[in-house]
Amino acid sequence: MNPGARLVLLGRQGSGKGTQCTRLSRHYVVPHISTGDILRAAVRDGTEFGRRAREIMDAGNLVPDDVMVGIMDERLDRDDTRGRGFILDGFPRTVAQAEALERMTAPRGIDVAINLDLPREVALARLIARLICADCGTNYSTADPPKYGMTCDVCGGDVVHRDDDTEAAIVRRLDLYEEETAPLIAYFDERGVLETVDAMGTPDAVSERLTSIIDKRRN
Ligand code: AMP
Repeated sequence: MNPGARLVLLGRQGSGKGTQCTRLSRHYVVPHISTGDILRAAVRDGTEFGRRAREIMDAGNLVPDDVMVGIMDERLDRDDTRGRGFILDGFPRTVAQAEALERMTAPRGIDVAINLDLPREVALARLIARLICADCGTNYSTADPPKYGMTCDVCGGDVVHRDDDTEAAIVRRLDLYEEETAPLIAYFDERGVLETVDAMGTPDAVSERLTSIIDKRRN
């Protein structure tokens, strides 16, 4: 991909979005910007903001739009996004956030928004079984854990069950996805930048679908 690619990955939680963003970021050498990771770092730092964010995240709710837009505005202002572009993971999650993103990235906007499509029942089952590397975000599951204990195969970090992967929080997040985030599919379609990719299958198969669609768009 030539420098300056600006990508958004949309999809229900459990669609493998985080894993695929990590892979795409390495493949195209663009920064992977995950709002969930930014919030989890604030939680780890133990700031007052982190404590409030943790309560919201553990309940499966959304952090207010103005807070998220402020975080993203600051992040997109950093030098590493200017030349090469970026991959956004977990932002935008509401129409108000998408409109703010449009203002932040004007006049060019973003190049491609990919909807990683996965049925709700499959997402629910995947999330209940999900294990994740706290350092690099690689996903595992109780059926397919890391090779050695709870140590990440990719980076050696700790593999954990996320605090917000309780059944109640998962159901709440999937409901909020339908209400707040699914309308973004039509939003990006109207702007001519939407692609839909089937998220079923192995991570390798999904990565291949993604790179082939992105490469086609770029050429
Ligand atoms: P994720 O790692 O993307 O699943 O995000 C974990 C949690 O962080 C979500 O369930 C929300 O509580 C919060 N969060 C992440 N990104 C956003 C966003 N763009 N808007 C609102 N809340 C967010």
